[in-house]
Amino acid sequence: MRISKSSYMDGLRCSKLLYLSKHHPELASPESASSRKRFEDGHRVGIEAHALFPDSISVFGEWTADGKALTNALKDTGNRLTAGAGCLLEASFAVDDLYARCDVIDRISERGERDAWHLIEVKSSTKVKPEHIDDLAFQQVVASNAGLAVEKTSLFHLNNEYVHSGGKYDAASLFTQQEVTQDVNESIPSVLPRLKAQRGVMAATECPEVATGSHCNDPYPCPFYAHCHREQHRHDINFLPSISRKKVAELQARGIRTIGEVPEGEITAGQWRTWATVRRQVPPLDGNVWDALKGLAYPIHCLDFEAMLEALPLYAGTRPYQKVPFQWSCHIIAQPGADPGHRDFLHTGASDPRADFVKELWDCVKDAGTIVVYSGFESQALADLARNGIDGADELYSHFQSHSLDLYRVLKANCYHSGFRGSWSLKTVVDTFGLKVNYEDSAIKDGEAAIIAYLRMLESEDQLERSNLEQSLRTYCGIDTATMMALVRLLADV
Ligand code: SF4
Repeated sequence: MRISKSSYMDGLRCSKLLYLSKHHPELASPESASSRKRFEDGHRVGIEAHALFPDSISVFGEWTADGKALTNALKDTGNRLTAGAGCLLEASFAVDDLYARCDVIDRISERGERDAWHLIEVKSSTKVKPEHIDDLAFQQVVASNAGLAVEKTSLFHLNNEYVHSGGKYDAASLFTQQEVTQDVNESIPSVLPRLKAQRGVMAATECPEVATGSHCNDPYPCPFYAHCHREQHRHDINFLPSISRKKVAELQARGIRTIGEVPEGEITAGQWRTWATVRRQVPPLDGNVWDALKGLAYPIHCLDFEAMLEALPLYAGTRPYQKVPFQWSCHIIAQPGADPGHRDFLHTGASDPRADFVKELWDCVKDAGTIVVYSGFESQALADLARNGIDGADELYSHFQSHSLDLYRVLKANCYHSGFRGSWSLKTVVDTFGLKVNYEDSAIKDGEAAIIAYLRMLESEDQLERSNLEQSLRTYCGIDTATMMALVRLLADV
């Protein structure tokens, strides 16, 4: 069985992931829209980085399961190196059962048959992460064993200080180059023993036992998440708020699997409510919730934002991964028992949405008694708009700070129910409390899907598709604030 860079990285993350990918790919969940977007974003960032290597040549041949194109890519790489190419994009190398595709290899100097090469990996992150070193160490082992003399390794990542001017990206400023030769060289001795262990996992007839934990979601949700969590205990220790991977492993090594088995002395202040609800069966809500809601003032505005965080900034004056809000919805309870009002905003043009977003939102909330939100995101987004000098954002942010209540923060500190299974998401909480909310009516199911739909709406030239997407976005955001309002009404007498 062939070991590619991605299967090596899967194996480092979790041996069960490696085994299931090779033996039972049918157990993986279908690829999500957010995972597709992550892949496409990475691809787009890679293409922008090509501008840094104007004399480079792209190697021909995509990786396919039947291996035919891989053979082409290997042949093309070999031919181009023999012909004296100075810089190759997507050069491919194989040795024994190992295969690696390198973003960039750049010839440093000519030394006859063993020229020295610079191996470069392009990432859409804004810093070097430990897994990038493992990734480069694997590539270097494969390329070196295939005959390439790698003398230097670097990572090109996005520069989060880069401010887009609005036209073409300036690749030299958009990327930060970080040489990681020493880190990679130090990591190389661990590659062969790890590969030996991974070969053992792949050759095994039984799936390895691996406990679930934070690695199932880090750096992104594992494709086997649903499969591995299908029989998870409703009081699994992973449901304790902010529990570290190390602590989970330590508790599991002592045979502790459920929240109620964790000794009180090992519970942090932030975990106490969850632990006490399970262990001592205290009521799911404590008095602090009522105290927080006593302060609600009319008109009560239930507010939610949608914002994008694009790797490649879309608008002049914005940076990589800067939050750019493009939509809000607000349900309003004007007085006790009144029918709710609703206002919303969605920027539908190609221009920067931020100025209109702020102007319209200020008009909506300037007379609010309390603005109820269900995350810290709205506050961060408004602070960001104020910091970036968007007209009116200062005034809006300070009004928000003095009038807002984050219901998520209140519930997370003072409420737990076994139905939450470690999640205080709005959907989980209202489902557990038996409120009927029709998320099924919405074609868009989560924030990631909303961003994807928004970007699609901006680029589509099909009027019908644009108007369907616009309607779906408004429906989705409106359901969120209607849900929040229903929760407020359930918890407080408004
Ligand atoms: S869900 Fe977790 S335990 Fe299961 S394969 Fe993925 S990372 Fe491993």
